[in-house]
Amino acid sequence: MTTNLGSAGERGSEITGDVTKYLIDGYLPTIGIECHVQLATKTKLFSSVDNDARGAEPNSKVSAIDYALPGMLPVLNREAVRLAARAGRALNAEIARESRFDRKHYFYPDLPKGYQISQMYQPTILSGHVDLPDGTRVRIHHAHLEEDAGKLTHHADHSEVDLNRAGTPLIEIVSEPDIHSAATARAYAEELHALMTYAGVTHGDLYHGNMRFDVNVSVAKVGEPLGTRTEVKNLNSFRSVERAAEHEIARQIAVLEKGEKVVQETRGWDDATGKTTSQRSKEDAQDYRYMPDPDIPPIVLDEAEIAQMQADMPTLPDEYRAKFAALKIDKSVERTILRDQKIATTIAEILDNSSAEIAKRVANLFASSLASDEAEQQLSARLSHDGKSVSDEPRNDARRGRRGKFVGQPTLPSSENLIKLAQIFGANEISSTAEKEIFAEMLKNDRDPRQIAEAKNLLQVSDENAIAEIVGQVLSAPENQKAVADFRAGEEKVIGYLVGQVMKQSKGQANPTLAGELIRDKINQSKENK
Ligand code: MN
Repeated sequence: MTTNLGSAGERGSEITGDVTKYLIDGYLPTIGIECHVQLATKTKLFSSVDNDARGAEPNSKVSAIDYALPGMLPVLNREAVRLAARAGRALNAEIARESRFDRKHYFYPDLPKGYQISQMYQPTILSGHVDLPDGTRVRIHHAHLEEDAGKLTHHADHSEVDLNRAGTPLIEIVSEPDIHSAATARAYAEELHALMTYAGVTHGDLYHGNMRFDVNVSVAKVGEPLGTRTEVKNLNSFRSVERAAEHEIARQIAVLEKGEKVVQETRGWDDATGKTTSQRSKEDAQDYRYMPDPDIPPIVLDEAEIAQMQADMPTLPDEYRAKFAALKIDKSVERTILRDQKIATTIAEILDNSSAEIAKRVANLFASSLASDEAEQQLSARLSHDGKSVSDEPRNDARRGRRGKFVGQPTLPSSENLIKLAQIFGANEISSTAEKEIFAEMLKNDRDPRQIAEAKNLLQVSDENAIAEIVGQVLSAPENQKAVADFRAGEEKVIGYLVGQVMKQSKGQANPTLAGELIRDKINQSKENK
């Protein structure tokens, strides 16, 4: 039996390697993260009630078990155990052959039993690690299964309790304090999100609080023991993880620089002000009076069962990274396309069915069209319609009971159409501006890109005779004679102006590369003739 598992940030960490790059005013920040992941099961952890309460009336997805009526007995949902085993695989972690549930006692109106069923002593997922794209390894201390509590909405003179979420299955992934910057904290949160969504463990809908991050931060001078930590709870966007860590690091350094002491406490994050505020002093484990739950038998798994649960794991982010090395794309582009499993899968399909050049072209199209937070949110909203999400910036109200609306269909352009688009561009049939326009259209409504180009009149004229005729007109026009003469005299830059005139005459449809070549040929020819 293992003893007290503790929580992220409170265990000792040996800092190896060069940390000078992380130092801020001589202080080394140390961060551990606890992440609650809502499992994508059909029903709750211990009752047969629908686990998806999005858009449902408050207290409409609640059984006698979730209400904690006397005499009710919880029955463990095996699917939650299966998803935990898959999560463990994605976290490079061993699965316990035997794990157990414990009662964590505390009183809160959204917890009618007076205790939360969790795993304190024998968690299902043992130690593992997550390797970030920059090479940082964040060790996972363990991850345990537990049920979620309900939700409270506070008003001026009363509060409302909604128990729809009570009993929702979670895994809480507890990292070791291996993170030393706010940016790495964000990268870790993003990687966990990718791992958990790719593995199908969670819908990963951040807007609805499917993943919530608790960030433990402390600062200390190098060589000194870890400083006193604070915990910022319930962050539900990557950006707020980074900002809260940044703010907390700066705040703690300021406190220490004034000669004061950091108080161990839980702090809340206000997205609007960009500040953390004190909420309560942190309980120690003994305050929860943990005890084994006598109602639930232990989870006992043998090798064969674990292997079966972990069978057919989908391609995980790191495998895609290895595959996409052939594309030679920027790290930022890679980050964008890995944000969503569907995009990553599509790019991989394109690479398999065409060429690295075409796959790179499409990857860059995704990256440039999703560059703005707003664009990414819109796509994410449509994709999360069926539970998949790339949402980074949900409104920070997932726990406040506001209901999000999803509109439109979850579509991504097919790899066939995307290959066609890149090919049409490659054949100079459309300009790069037109390519972007068609791509944006395909994101809304996937169709054959050539049809879109025709409908929008975006096909370039690549007919040499047609362009040659326009070039002839431009070169003989009286107003262009000075430019023609200048070019003849060796002033190369003038070619741009002349191509521009051809584009103007052709209403933007001439292939500019071809037009440039024809202009050059024609002027050089007339030079030789002279
Ligand atoms: Mn928890």
